Parts: sequence; structure tokens; C-alpha cells
Amino acid sequence: AEKMRLQKAMADAGIASRRKSEELIASGHVLVNGKVVKEMGIKVDHHDKIEVDGVPIHDEKKRYILMYKPRGVISAVKDDKNRKVITDLLEDDFRERVYPVGRLDYDTSGLILLTNDGDFANKLMHPKYHVEKTYIAKIQGILAVEDIKRLERGMKLKDYKTSPAKVTVMSKDIKKGTSIVKLVIHEGHNHQVKNMFAGVGHPVNKLSREKYGFLTLDGLVSGKYRDLSRIEVAKLK
Ligand code: URA
Repeated sequence: AEKMRLQKAMADAGIASRRKSEELIASGHVLVNGKVVKEMGIKVDHHDKIEVDGVPIHDEKKRYILMYKPRGVISAVKDDKNRKVITDLLEDDFRERVYPVGRLDYDTSGLILLTNDGDFANKLMHPKYHVEKTYIAKIQGILAVEDIKRLERGMKLKDYKTSPAKVTVMSKDIKKGTSIVKLVIHEGHNHQVKNMFAGVGHPVNKLSREKYGFLTLDGLVSGKYRDLSRIEVAKLK
């Protein structure tokens, strides 16, 4: 097999993105054949023994998982409060160390990707890489025309301005004073959807992500997942 740069071998093995791997190398966490390697760009192949903090990296099969996250699950691989994490939902024989691409809140359900491909995850999470995310929110109250305009134009939140969004009011329950609203955004700031609706005076009661780019939850029930097809992965890359 051909030689490749150490940071690429680490990224390919699902350790971290290439950039993060470079940081791990520079800060002395990486051993090649028993010796700490700090300089960048050394080449390795499968004969070389690579360890990160004493743990050997091994090439993992690349996995690209589409999961229907239930409410009440943390989208992380571990939680310091010992709550259920998203990787707890993987079957017992699931081998690869996948992690979520971005986050959904603990109380948000819906579509989330998991992968062990660091470069893929980083690319999708980069703000410049515009994946449209479609959310369905149950909000308090009924949106006024001016509220919709503010959401659609882009609005000032605490430390950033949102990009234009698409808003569709799906239904209104005048008696209960709630509405169901579809919101399409391509960014992914922390709590962005909740903050946008709260920002126009209509807090979110319930939130789910229905679509991620062209991907939908079709065929999945809450808590279940499937591998993306090769075509789906290629289209996202
Ligand atoms: N926006 C939110 O407020 N929460 C999510 O989980 C996702 C987007």
C-alpha cells in the first residue's frame, strides 16, 4: 500500500479531522513505531504502528449513518451527567466509532448524521457548506406577518445575524394559542431555531428536524438508523 501523511492516516482511521490530527501531532500525543513524532508531514503506511495517547489507531470502515434521534437523548458520544447518548442507540455489534455531525438539542428529535469520517463531518459542519436543514416547530402563539418577515429577512440574535430563512405556517390552533411552523435554514448555530422564534416572541414548545439537505426520515422510526447509500454520501461530499 502507498504511504500517506500521518495526519491523513489518522483522519482515515476516524481519529479526528486532519486539522485536529495535526494539533494532536504537534502537541506530542502521537507515537509512530514507539517514538513521539511532532513534525508534520511524515509518511506512514500500514506497516507503521501509530498510537494516540498510547492507543493504537486501526483503520475503520467508513460509516455514514442517518439516525432518527428521539427526544431525551444527547447528541454526543458521552455525557458527564450520564444521560443517554446517541451512540447508545447503535446496535451492540456496531464496531466503528462514529460521532454526530453537529448537534440536535436534548429535547429536539429528528434527523442527524453520524460518521467516523472526520473530513466529511468537518466539511458538512463548516458554515460555508450550505446544507439546508428543515425544522418543524410547535411554537407559542400565532406569527404576525411582521414576525415572518423578520425570520425570513435574517435577524439579529445575541452575537450573530441569521441568514435569510424560509418560513411556512403549517397550521394554527387559535384555541390553544399554538402554531406549527416549518423553518428552513442552512446554518447551525447553537439553539438557533429556538432563539429565532423566541426572538420574535414565540418560544418553541417542541422541535424536530425533518430534512438535512435532500435527506429525509422516510422509512425510519424514532430511535432507528440506516447507512447512507454510496450515492447519498457522494452527493453530500
Ligand atoms: N435549533 C435549535 O434550537 N435546536 C436544535 O436542536 C437544532 C436547531
